[in-house]
Amino acid sequence: MQESFRISSDSNDEATRICRNSQNFRLSRYAIEKGFRFIMMTKEQYIESLRKLNLNLWMFGKKIDNPVDDPVIRPSLNSFAATYEAAEDPENEDLMVATSHLTGNKINRFTHMHQSTDDLIKKVKMQRMLGQKTAACFQRCVGMDAMNAVYSSTYEIDEACGTKYHENFVKFLTRVQDEDLAVDGAMTDVKGDRGLAPSKQADPDLFLHVVERTADGVYVTGAKAHQTGFVNSHEVLVMPTIAMREGDEDYAISFAVPTDSKGITLIYGRQSCDTRKLEEYNDIDVGNKVYGGHEVLVIFDRVFVPNDRIFLNGEVKFAGMIVERFAGYHRQSYGGCKVGVGDVLIGATQLAVEMAGCAKASHVKDKIIEMVHLNETLYACGIACSSQGSKTKSGNYLINLLLANVCKQNVTRFPYDIARLAQDLAGGLMVTQPSEADYRNPELKPYIEKYLKGVASVPTEDRMRVLRLIENMTMGTAAVGYLPESMHGAGSPQAQRIMIARQSNMEQKKALAKAIARID
Ligand code: SF4
Ligand code: FE
Repeated sequence: MQESFRISSDSNDEATRICRNSQNFRLSRYAIEKGFRFIMMTKEQYIESLRKLNLNLWMFGKKIDNPVDDPVIRPSLNSFAATYEAAEDPENEDLMVATSHLTGNKINRFTHMHQSTDDLIKKVKMQRMLGQKTAACFQRCVGMDAMNAVYSSTYEIDEACGTKYHENFVKFLTRVQDEDLAVDGAMTDVKGDRGLAPSKQADPDLFLHVVERTADGVYVTGAKAHQTGFVNSHEVLVMPTIAMREGDEDYAISFAVPTDSKGITLIYGRQSCDTRKLEEYNDIDVGNKVYGGHEVLVIFDRVFVPNDRIFLNGEVKFAGMIVERFAGYHRQSYGGCKVGVGDVLIGATQLAVEMAGCAKASHVKDKIIEMVHLNETLYACGIACSSQGSKTKSGNYLINLLLANVCKQNVTRFPYDIARLAQDLAGGLMVTQPSEADYRNPELKPYIEKYLKGVASVPTEDRMRVLRLIENMTMGTAAVGYLPESMHGAGSPQAQRIMIARQSNMEQKKALAKAIARID
């Protein structure tokens, strides 16, 4: 990253000089007033930095040379960029800005190692705020969660095995913080036959693995599926996908490389209604014109990883620790981001019933209350698992794993219930209203204006916009993030049930019952 992409200073004078030259005056004033060493990219600097990446990206059968300005991809970039933009606003300092425990610099919270339960709570609040702003997946949490998991795990691996992974990781993390980089966290392998261990698959590449070892590093081959935000990231932090056992040594690998490394190929995931973004009238029908999310299939074909970028290499018994911690953090995350998205959907539904003139009906009010109740229950879980977090040996804080898994288990259900109620209250017009092209046609517009009218004082176009937003969030591009991702992201429901069983402390519960029942 070039120096010009950073706002960085050791003194007030230097801060003043750099900030005067900065494009962002609010951020500049803020940094000067505070007089601290301030290391964060502005939204514009972040977007420009992505233009320098040379990704091997494919979509709809074609190579995409300019993902930054691609109309299908750009909304997801806008969501990711919101994590930079929000940090520029001094009003968000408490949630968006943290102090690096490594350098003492002010950094974006997305690159921070949580130093307290308060940090964990602020993380969830930050995610809710960004979910409210984007109504989509803003993607940067995966890297934050991966970095926190690998940070504490490498410390404990080194302690047990005498390796130097933590040192490697701290070096990587320092650069991420200093340059305010976007990091993709890559865990999910394609997995092939689910009944077979990584080393027993018919095709050895179905789990990412080391194919060659040299004095300078390793070469890896395999694929990571469902990669959220990869196209908008500078670096990828790769982790194993499951707990491993003897014989799986080549698969117990964790490392970080630039996203445009030689040998990485990206195939963009399709989303329902994605080509609406390419239509002539790309406004009402897309539902959410500015923001979105994306996933890609990431193929590693003999990608070289230098030794100092390796964080696990064959220590099979620690693969499970990284998986458990990353999954725990990301299950906590959903108690923030999905709640923020839910806030937007509840708001849209309330608008829809008001525009239709039925907001006062008792069953309508009750359904809205139910939506709020479900949404706030998810938030309660996100806050609870954060407040009950604890310090790891490395010093960063881990959420309470039982409560984080309960949080995510609820996330696999409640957004579906909220979406069902939103569709119930929105009515069929959400999916049967004419297209924007028809609405813009002078011959048809008067009819549409007249017959799609609800409450007389509400413009028909406003009603169409709200209904398309609900469509987008419950069955369009944003529904990918709000529904199936709520089901499968950070692990499918059964993965949480296994963890809940493991963390439930059943012996203690039995002892409690025995004591009350006076059983010896
Ligand atoms: Fe962040 Fe939520 Fe997207 Fe995961 S699903 S990256 S937690 S916004
Ligand atoms: Fe996710």
